[in-house]
Amino acid sequence: MKFIIVTGGVMSGLGKGITAASIGRILVDMGYRVVPIKIDPYINIDAGTMNPFQHGEVYVLKDGTEVDLDLGHYERFIGIELTGEHNITTGKIYKNVIEKERNGDYLGQTVQIIPHITDEIKRWIRDVARSKDADICLVEVGGTVGDIESMPFLEAIRQMHNEERAEDFLLVHVTLVPLDSGGEQKTKPTQHSVKELRSLGLHPDVIVGRCKEELESSTKKKISLFCDVPVEAVISAKDADDIYEVPILFKKENLDKYLAKKLNLENKANSSKWDEIVSRLKNARNEVSIAIVGKYMDVRDAYISIREALKIAGIYNDARVVPIWVDSEEFERFDEMEIDADGILVPGGFGQRGIEGKIRAITYARENDIPFLGICLGFQLSVIEFARNVLGYDDANSTEFGETEHPVIDLLPEQRGIEQKGGTMRLGEIEIIIKPNTIAHSLYKASRVYERHRHRYEVNPRYISEFENSGLIFSGYSQDGKRMEILELPENRFFFATQFHPEFKAKPFSPSPPFLGLVKAALEYRREVYG
Ligand code: GLN
Repeated sequence: MKFIIVTGGVMSGLGKGITAASIGRILVDMGYRVVPIKIDPYINIDAGTMNPFQHGEVYVLKDGTEVDLDLGHYERFIGIELTGEHNITTGKIYKNVIEKERNGDYLGQTVQIIPHITDEIKRWIRDVARSKDADICLVEVGGTVGDIESMPFLEAIRQMHNEERAEDFLLVHVTLVPLDSGGEQKTKPTQHSVKELRSLGLHPDVIVGRCKEELESSTKKKISLFCDVPVEAVISAKDADDIYEVPILFKKENLDKYLAKKLNLENKANSSKWDEIVSRLKNARNEVSIAIVGKYMDVRDAYISIREALKIAGIYNDARVVPIWVDSEEFERFDEMEIDADGILVPGGFGQRGIEGKIRAITYARENDIPFLGICLGFQLSVIEFARNVLGYDDANSTEFGETEHPVIDLLPEQRGIEQKGGTMRLGEIEIIIKPNTIAHSLYKASRVYERHRHRYEVNPRYISEFENSGLIFSGYSQDGKRMEILELPENRFFFATQFHPEFKAKPFSPSPPFLGLVKAALEYRREVYG
């Protein structure tokens, strides 16, 4: 087993996750099996209770673990499905150690960060790596070197470095190379952060420098000299047009060859599948715009998987998808409103803010027959919109937003009275039965599918037959028939909504059917309107 550790310096938001995911991709294309692990040094057990305004999207894995959005990058770049054990948090590590202490497993010892916490970290990483039968374990340490929270993790990594053979262990450090006012590339921040890393007993094998443009050869030489790495181990990470290009840019910098040399690997597969997908993405002949009506508009990362799922659906429709961000709250303020887009998407969300604007966007899509995809909250609001404007229940609403005469979205009895917030929603991959002769069936081409969930509320079973008698079809439902999972309006060209989150399963080599349906319908609509 080989280990590649990715750390970051200078500041957060340098694209460490994309760097780790891209290294993963490069190794997969060389023919190796890669198992990624993300370390999030926060004390939360998982990302489920975290606010997308602060952290970006909460990504959901198939086992229902709610994790950092970097795990989404890993799944998409590496082409694998992960579970909760691929995300380590301080909370999880301490919980295990404290449970062991209560069980008396430490036999009277004083339980300490070194060795007990660090042992638990190392055990976790090695257990996951081994159990997945992989060749290379890729570990990304979240946060920035020097943060107090990440200290125990970096100490565990330092110990691992001594315990593993030199050809089995490699540390990649991602830093920022800013430009001064004259446009010169500055290496001081990199030098400082490498110094910080060294003070913890770690030495980088590869330095990835984030910069607007490629690192100049004089910059590379300087970093090499001051940070004690060979010039060939200093890799440019310039701003890419698209994140999927990063593995290709790294290969241009010969990172693949350097990894092979240091870790004693060979290019067994020499696959160019990824390059082909990226070239299709860049050379798409059509263009289509999709309005995303949401509330976390200042934090585009809040909808990262939706953006990726749209982009991927575009690749398979020979189209570049241009997302148009529409703030649902702004939308509420205007009486007459129009959305200038070829399709409309209402994503998931929590809480009352902005929901009336989203409902208006849904009315607009339904009445003007504009291709529409609703996801989770977007599905629930489509049900509310239909109840209000087609069934005539003006006060129809979800009990998530207050008391109403017509609670068309409500908690099922089993969800009532749950006090704990973390990990108590209906989470993860669950089977969905698809009705024959529906849009859902034509998209999925299957009568049973698995998609990932993250919600508490459901279509109220009391209203189902009334909806279905008025032209709305529930074309997907849970195995016990109690929960509605997909709705569609057969009268419209494409009006489709899902209680689950299809965006979490979209990958470059396996696009998501509902997104394919939306992009295809939007393209047809655009052709019809513009000829
Ligand atoms: N707030 C809704 C629920 O809990 C929808 C959740 C979502 O969109 N992810 O059911």
